[in-house]
Amino acid sequence: MASFNVHLYSGFICGAGFSTLGISVYHLNPFQGASVFIMATTGALLPDVDSDTGKPLHLMFQLISIMIPSLLLPKVIPLGDNSPEWIISYFTLSYLFLFYGVGTLIKRLTVHRGIFHSIPFSILSAELVYLLFVQSSQKLALIAASAMFSGCILHLLLDEANSFYFKHHLMPSLKRSKGTALKLKSDSIVLTVCIYCLILYVATVIFHLYPIVF
Ligand SMILES: [Zn+2]
Repeated sequence: MASFNVHLYSGFICGAGFSTLGISVYHLNPFQGASVFIMATTGALLPDVDSDTGKPLHLMFQLISIMIPSLLLPKVIPLGDNSPEWIISYFTLSYLFLFYGVGTLIKRLTVHRGIFHSIPFSILSAELVYLLFVQSSQKLALIAASAMFSGCILHLLLDEANSFYFKHHLMPSLKRSKGTALKLKSDSIVLTVCIYCLILYVATVIFHLYPIVF
């Protein structure tokens, strides 16, 4: 696989492109531009969530464990009393649950270059980002979802590009990892069926609740 820094910097470039386009052409405000930038960068790192060790996984889970409770805050505030003690407890418990609970589970259940390194996972991530942002505006949701999808695909392309090497510094050769990143299915039929069902389900929710209007 390509190195963590390569994925991170490619995410920065992709994010800068999308947020510049969003701000200059589609008149996003600076906060919306920053969100688009973060989505592209997250997408560029996200597939390595199935790598069992090192910085990528740690950073990704830290990001996810902060991002998800923050995004869900408006939905859960009516369930609490909006006091400082309630918000501190909510963020601390959510962080611990996602970082140590869900994170450990994903580490145990996934194999590197499994379904997270695939085109359907990139589509599903983009759909979820669309759902997250559509309540702000459809324009922002479309740009943020495109940024997430592009970030993920960029990651897969860089991993595939890294499958080439020069044997004895001369002969172009392929590593065994060739074809394990940019793929349409996992080795597990059950996982493949599950992810395509999830894509269809989320697409149905989107078209039912928030039909895309051009
Ligand atoms: Zn990777």
